[in-house]
Parts: sequence; structure tokens; C-alpha cells
Amino acid sequence: MTPLQALQKYFGYTQFRHQQEAIIKQLMSGGDAMVLMPTGGGKSLCYQLPAVLLPGLTIVISPLIALMKDQVDSLNINGIPAAYINSSQTTGEQQDIISRLRSGQIKLLYLAPERLFSSESRLVSFLKSLNVNLIAIDEAHCISHWGHDFRPEYLMLSSFKTEFPSVPVIALTATADNLTREDIKEKLALHNPAEFVSSFNRPNISYKVSPKKNSYQQLLSFLDERKEDSGIIYCLSRASTEDLAADLRAAGYLASAYHAGLDQETKARNQEQFLRDEVKIMVATIAFGMGINKSNVRYVVHYDLPKNIEGYYQETGRAGRDGLPSEALLFYSAADFYKLQRFAKVDGNEEQSRIMLKKLDDMVKFCQLQTCRRQYLMHYFNEPFPDHCGSCDVCLTEFKRFDGTILAQKALSAVVRLNQRFGTNYVIDFLRGSKSEKIRDEHKHLKTYGIGTDVSKADWQRYISQLVNQGYLQVTDDNYPILQLTPASDAVLKGQQKIEFTLAEDLEVATEIQNPIYEAGLLQDLKTIRFNLAMNENVPAYIILSDATLLEIATY
Ligand code: ADP
Ligand code: MG
Ligand code: ZN
Repeated sequence: MTPLQALQKYFGYTQFRHQQEAIIKQLMSGGDAMVLMPTGGGKSLCYQLPAVLLPGLTIVISPLIALMKDQVDSLNINGIPAAYINSSQTTGEQQDIISRLRSGQIKLLYLAPERLFSSESRLVSFLKSLNVNLIAIDEAHCISHWGHDFRPEYLMLSSFKTEFPSVPVIALTATADNLTREDIKEKLALHNPAEFVSSFNRPNISYKVSPKKNSYQQLLSFLDERKEDSGIIYCLSRASTEDLAADLRAAGYLASAYHAGLDQETKARNQEQFLRDEVKIMVATIAFGMGINKSNVRYVVHYDLPKNIEGYYQETGRAGRDGLPSEALLFYSAADFYKLQRFAKVDGNEEQSRIMLKKLDDMVKFCQLQTCRRQYLMHYFNEPFPDHCGSCDVCLTEFKRFDGTILAQKALSAVVRLNQRFGTNYVIDFLRGSKSEKIRDEHKHLKTYGIGTDVSKADWQRYISQLVNQGYLQVTDDNYPILQLTPASDAVLKGQQKIEFTLAEDLEVATEIQNPIYEAGLLQDLKTIRFNLAMNENVPAYIILSDATLLEIATY
């Protein structure tokens, strides 16, 4: 049977989606695979179908018992013998599955990671006595500290490759940035894995960030226009999910809360009611959502700032599975940033803190964007995307734009001239022909030295940050971040790619805004400053005027 025939016979689908077929071929030929596909993309089929075609057993690792049961049930309905072993079963039930495994009657076995390699478990040696043909690790990002949902028990999966050296392994996830991807491959000891990255774009979801100011009132008017719709509201703390759900109920909404601290029964009941549309709004911590396959979620609100883009994107991705227009609304405040910054400082693990802070920083940048939010998200996951999506709040706001190609070429050639070894401020000093002796003496012989004197320092910072957001420059995540070219830079330097910048307003007035958030040296035009100040309520901010007058805006 060919993969396509099996697809039709066992799953009733006429064609493959995304890269399913190529992934299946890779596994059938005995190779490892790393698969990134958005939620709802069809990851399960990538191992379920080979499981049907291969003669022996496929082991599937999945973190949630509830998910296992659903998958196994639907496989059995399709005539594919599958089973799971987990703590919810009696010894008798487990014995029964063991004997069916022994006689080769099962094609797919689902397991929770802790079952496999716990010290007293004899499961591994038993499985080694069977004909295991494929190992699938679902939600593979759970193995990485750098992912957004680390589960210590996943670390045990590192032993798979030693225990089953010749069995191909497929790792699947819907959310992993570069760092997490590398970590997954390394921790699972994948052998030359073929990587399959599907498009992460969810064109039917529109992204919006709003200042976290009167957020409850804002939320009420948002909900008021969406009374018939289902949605999820994510909060940072368990207590606030319950408080907000209670407030919304008092305001006449069908709202319920969900967090890991509720007892099993309450969680199950609330989730069921949401799935059955008896409850319209689920107010939840991030504990809610994995594996929830509700197609008509029309909006996802982040009432508090998420910790990183991976989590944010995964959570917003729960909207609009049915392909209909859906919304992602995030309330951003500097206060949240400071709170998360404190959380991110993990005692005794500097490396981990550094990475968490970097990811938080990327999240804040997203909130403060002046360029297309979707483009930023796509670039975050290494996917090329044009300048405008036309549907995020930034694209929908009228920003004055102008042709910045020449400026972009100047900035990029300065980076080249400096051998991609310096940070933003140094590059700007170079562009502006700094009078600082150290810089001047080192570079003044270069023709490009001082080619950007006509542009203020503030503007250069703004343009460079726009180039970074648009993917024409990148900033390394070292302690002293360095500006470097990207694969897209070349076309700009060769004049094959036009660049648009957004125009600064009232340039002569504001050149710099200082508060801890802007330490990175992000400079903003007045419109953005106003926007940021509105968001950073109660955070003292200073605007340095061009005549160097210091203007303190204590409360704005
Ligand atoms: P993921 O794990 O990537 O979130 P699933 O594996 O749960 O996604 O698949 C999502 C839905 O897409 C399921 O209902 C599945 O049956 C369906 N699906 C998967 N592959 C195909 C295909 N080739 N054609 C049509 N539907 C598919
Ligand atoms: Mg899945
Ligand atoms: Zn956009």
C-alpha cells in the first residue's frame, strides 16, 4: 500500500497537507525527523500513517492522559489497533494490553514519558523485546527549558536513542523558536534529522495590542460586541482567573475559570461546558488549552503580558481553527514587564535567566512594534514574510511611510564595513562620523565613514530597529548585542529590494525617551512615545528634548 492509499483507506482523506508526505517518506526510509507544524496542521498523521504501513510497533509519547485517550479512541474507530498505558488504568487493563502487545496485535502504543524510564519500570526492557519500528515524541518542546512548557519527565526521553539505537525518531511540536529547536534535537540525540517546517502564518487571526489601562472597561466593550462568540482570556495568576470570571458572570456573561489549582472534577466540568458552548468565555491560566480542539474560538485575549512569543503564539493559535476571522488581543503594560522580569530571574541558573529575559524582551518588542506584527511573529519563527499583512493593528493604523532604501543601504554597508562586529550605537557613531577619537582614528580611512551625518542619532536608531523588525538586520543575543546581516540583506545592498520606513513625527522635539524599558536604546517618534507612555502608566519617564531640557512626566 502506498502512503496515499493508506491515507484514503484508514483516514478517509484525499490528499496530504503541508509536508506530511515528505515527513512520512523520511520515516519510512529509516531517518529521524523534526517537525514544526502549527496547531491543527495535522501532526498526528505524520506518525500514525507510517505506523499503519510499518510491520511492527510505533511508540508515541504524549504528555497528557486526556489527549491519549482521544487519539486512541479515534484510531480504533478507524480500524487501527492502538492502545495506551497510563496511571488511570487498573493492573488488569494494563496486563491485557501487555499481552496484546506481545502477540503483535497493536500498531500504536501511547505512553506518558514518566512511565517509560522510571527506575522501577520494566517497560523499556519489555518494549525492547518487541519489534519497535518508530518512536514519535509529540509536544517535543516539553523537553526544553527554553520552550514555554518544560516538563522534567520529558528529559527521560534522552535515553530513547541509546535504548533503541536503530529506530527512527520523529519529534513534533507546534511551537519552538531556533533555540528550542536546537535543544530538542540535541536532548533527543536525533541523528541527522530532516527538518520540516510548515508555514506558521494564521492569516485568519488578526493581532492587536492595547495599552493596559482601564483594561477591564476595555475588555467589557470588546466582549459587548462579541456576545455570541466563544473566547479564551488568559491571565497570569490563578486567583485572577477566578476573580475575572466572577466579575464577568456578574456582568451577565457565561464565563468560567480554569487553572491547575482546581480539582480534577471542576476542571473537567468547566472544560466540557466550554467545548459544548454552554460557557462562552474561559478565563484561564496557560494550563488551559493544550490539546483542546474547539474550532470556533473567535478570540483569545491576553489580559496580562505573556512570558514569551512561543507561548503567546501557541495560545493565540487556539483561535480560529475553523478558518474564520478571529482576533488576538493583548493588554500590555510596563508593570507586567517588571513583574515577569522578576520571575525570570531564576536563582542559581544564570544561563536560564538570561534566555528567559531575552525571550521576555522579544515579547515586549512585539508589544511596542511600529511595523507589522504578523511579520515580526513570522520572522521570530524564521519564516519570510512581506512588510504588511494588512490586518494587524499596526498595518491598520495610518503610519506615514517613505522610501528608505538609500538609508537602509547606508546602514547595511556600515555594518559590512565594520565586519559585523559592533552594536547599534557603534554603527550609528560610524554612520554619523563620530568625533570620538577612538572611533574616528580607527575608521576614518574608510569611504563610508560618516555617510549618514545628515540623519540624527535618534532617527538612525529608529531606522535600524525597523530594519531589524523587517528582517534585514539581526541582533545577536550576546551580552553586548551585535548587529549582523541576514540572508535578506544582500538584495537591499544590491538595490534589488526597496525598503519602507515609518516617518517620525515632530522630530525636532523629542529625540530620546528614557525609562528602563528603553535601555536597549530603542528610540521612538512622538506618536510612539505617547502610545508607550499611555501603556507605561505610573512608570516615571523622561523625554530629553533637543535643547537638552529634561522634562519629567511622572504621571501621564
Ligand atoms: P496537530 O497535532 O498538528 O495540532 P492533528 O494531528 O490533531 O493536528 O490534526 C488536526 C486535524 O486535521 C485532525 O482533525 C486531523 O484528522 C485533520 N487532518 C490531518 N491530516 C489531514 C489531511 N491530510 N487532510 C484532511 N484533514 C487532515
Ligand atoms: Mg497534536
Ligand atoms: Zn500587519
